[in-house]
Amino acid sequence: MELKNKKLLQTGIFIDNKFTKSTDNSTFKVNNPANGKLVCTVANATEIDTNKAIHSAETAFKKWSTTNVLERSKILKKWYQLIIDNKDDLALLLTTEQGKPLNEALGEINYGASFVEWYAEECRRTYGETIPFSNNSKRLKTIQQPIGVVAAITPWNFPTAMITRKVAPAIAAGCTVVLKPAEDTPLSALALAQLALEAGLPKGVLSILPTTNYKDIGRILTTHPSIAKVSFTGSTTVGKLLMQQSASTLKKLSLELGGNAPCIIFDDAELDNAVKGAIATKYRNAGQTCVCANRILVQKSIYPTFLKKYTEAVEKLKVGNGIKKNSTIGPLINQEAIDKIKNLLTDALENGAKITLGGNQHKAGKLFFEPTIITNCTNEMQLSKEEIFGPVSSIFIFETEEEAIAMANDTEYGLAAYFFSENVNRVIRVSEKLEYGIIGINEGIISTAEAPFGGIKQSGFGKEGSFYGIEEYQITKYICIGNL
Ligand code: ADP
Repeated sequence: MELKNKKLLQTGIFIDNKFTKSTDNSTFKVNNPANGKLVCTVANATEIDTNKAIHSAETAFKKWSTTNVLERSKILKKWYQLIIDNKDDLALLLTTEQGKPLNEALGEINYGASFVEWYAEECRRTYGETIPFSNNSKRLKTIQQPIGVVAAITPWNFPTAMITRKVAPAIAAGCTVVLKPAEDTPLSALALAQLALEAGLPKGVLSILPTTNYKDIGRILTTHPSIAKVSFTGSTTVGKLLMQQSASTLKKLSLELGGNAPCIIFDDAELDNAVKGAIATKYRNAGQTCVCANRILVQKSIYPTFLKKYTEAVEKLKVGNGIKKNSTIGPLINQEAIDKIKNLLTDALENGAKITLGGNQHKAGKLFFEPTIITNCTNEMQLSKEEIFGPVSSIFIFETEEEAIAMANDTEYGLAAYFFSENVNRVIRVSEKLEYGIIGINEGIISTAEAPFGGIKQSGFGKEGSFYGIEEYQITKYICIGNL
């Protein structure tokens, strides 16, 4: 990996605006999932480091929370510009540690940067209210204030964007942040810290704790009395654990957890657009996003035509090292991801499903999997209940709109759902009946800084992006002035 800006390869813990060794000098390895080669070793944060970072954030909060919005906005804008100026290096770093194709990595850098830009602007519009009074001797108002020190825990599938989506609104609101990135992808997080430092972010406002000791550090971050808020993106199982741990000090929480997105293709869909949208939502990041279509539900009357067109489109995907220009599907993150897919496929086949394309590991390497289509799927199969998180399309058939809605809602998750239809009445009916936090209609790519992203049911709660995203890091203080 040849970076133009060598400073972007940071391997230390980031505390007090310095990259340091861990207190016990331990390190861990970051490997390239495309070829298994060692990229570098990174300092492995300990419990002592975690307490240091929290202390630093607590100290910094006293001052940072009193800065005015213009001061915060200026630093965020500078950070945004530095991310954009270094986007080729950041994308290369991202592909090297995470695997996604370079083009997608570049897309993620732009998308990640857009949250920094958005919240640089949005913090200037977090108004309080003047409330009409019912007693002439009183005046009532509210102000928005930063909640305090924030702990953020992020996953490996978007090593840049999941960080900016939390850190930008938090620091824009006047909070300070202690972030624990995923152990598979700490380098993108540390590169962002380097650029935040260059942008002039004061020490202690952002700390980064790369670590493989995530259970112990997670426990400190969710139980420490100085932390006011925990923002987590990851699995539902871990989300529930963090919520339990956070109960001891009643922390405010944002949880962006697993999904089981349905993608419904109705008989009145514009089929070419439906194929394009379904491919975009299914195969992005090799199927490793929480908003990836997990179940493709196709209306019986158009099933043969859809399957033919869809298969032709999937066959065009190019599996390979993300660094290669024409790759559209990179490796999966690790061996467990491959094993999970194999187990889900075996279970589906035993229950009557049929593989019509792919189904095996790909010759490109140990962690590559063939783009796969599996048909005759039913809700008895594990893949109808669990996130596949890989390049596998599971196809289900339905006959009526009511049946499609019932099938789509038959899950404990409620993050994103998609459907394709050109019928305006159906569009309104179905979008109101789907039990999901995000609905994509005739569109497979739904996430953007201006819009609220977040789930319902066991996909969690809280919003990221949009003006709602900054409220997650604020308290609304009510002020009553009396005796007038
Ligand atoms: P995934 O299955 O996508 O890896 P996880 O929920 O396991 O999802 O991981 C998401 C993030 O949560 C990562 O940063 C990981 O290190 C962290 N994590 C996993 N287990 C714990 C835990 N017990 N406490 C705190 N953080 C955890």
